[in-house]
Amino acid sequence: MDKFAKLHAFLQQQQQQQLYRRTRLAETAQQPRRIIDGKALLTFCSNDYLGLANHPAVIQAFQQAANEYGVGSGAAHLVNGHSKPHQQLEEALAEFTGRAQALLFSTGYMANIGVTNALLGRHDFIYADKLNHASLVDAALLSGAKVTRYAHNDSAQLAKRLQHTEHTQLILTDGVFSMDGDVAPIQALARLAQQANAWLMVDDAHGLGVLGKTGAGLLEQAALSASDVPILMGTLGKALGTAGAFVAGDSALIEYLKQTARSWIFTTAQPPAVAAATLASLALVQQGQHLREHLQQLIQQFRQGAEQLGLQLMDSQTPIQPIILGSNAHALAASTYLESQGILVTAIRPPTVPQGTARLRVTLSAAHSTVDVERLLAALDQQSFKQLVAQ
Ligand SMILES: *Cc1c(COP(=O)(O)O)cnc(C)c1O
Repeated sequence: MDKFAKLHAFLQQQQQQQLYRRTRLAETAQQPRRIIDGKALLTFCSNDYLGLANHPAVIQAFQQAANEYGVGSGAAHLVNGHSKPHQQLEEALAEFTGRAQALLFSTGYMANIGVTNALLGRHDFIYADKLNHASLVDAALLSGAKVTRYAHNDSAQLAKRLQHTEHTQLILTDGVFSMDGDVAPIQALARLAQQANAWLMVDDAHGLGVLGKTGAGLLEQAALSASDVPILMGTLGKALGTAGAFVAGDSALIEYLKQTARSWIFTTAQPPAVAAATLASLALVQQGQHLREHLQQLIQQFRQGAEQLGLQLMDSQTPIQPIILGSNAHALAASTYLESQGILVTAIRPPTVPQGTARLRVTLSAAHSTVDVERLLAALDQQSFKQLVAQ
């Protein structure tokens, strides 16, 4: 077959299985009310949980740093791309998370790949939750280590699979699961890791900023130190509202990563202005108790309202509140219906989620009002939506 014919065949098949994906075009900033594909929509699908992506203080910090440092960092951190805002941000993130040191990566995907490739080789072992984020799945595969997946949040099953070995072992888990919104059994995982002398790495992309008294995430909420959870990965593009990611932990770990993590060594440092903007958003996160309280109120409002409508919700107390529809066609139809009502909730389909669990991934943000949530609930209460769920 002609090489392009293969692509055409694949694309056609994606269409037939309702798996075809396309981007939408936003013409306004990241915030609940946006113009997308030319339509005014109230959105419930962003990861900007605290509404900081478009916050004036964050924008101002970005602009100021761009005036001072320009836009591009020009080189990798180890060459001459590491500037003062990067250094300040790393120190601030270490302090924020109660870890000795932190290392900035350009994306969370790269941070995950960097850590596993630095720490493990083909004689080593990774234990991964079945519902881990795709970047953790890829990180595990690319490390070359032997990968064992355990049933979602099943620490008893994990306990049986861990070994007594001199080879390196790493337990990998999302902190807050990105598509379900539930939380890893982190205390149990920490105990198992300690018993087996294994590393434990938590990807807290969706906990950071949202959970914990100061927003330092799941590990702050669970009061777990670096000796309990030696590797913490956090992303900056979600609740922190900017871009990039970091790994925080013991100094030996961070120094080791600087020598060996290829996705950190061989890539251009993020723009200094992004680091400066993140410093500003980090301050807002730390003082953001009121934002987290408001967000919690919205979560409770949504859950109570949805339960009254008879919708099946998941075991989630986080801003991620999925409504499972099952088939791809149902999830797409539900999303299209909501869009006709002026509400955007994108449909999430395999392989992002397991087969047969296509869903609307509703996310809430502190930038939403209770009136916004009422509007969403009213749309979910319409007959045409209920028919979709009932099928
Ligand atoms: C978004 C996400 C990532 C990837 O982070 P990026 O900075 O967007 O590359 C990693 N892990 C989880 C759980 C995520 O949700």
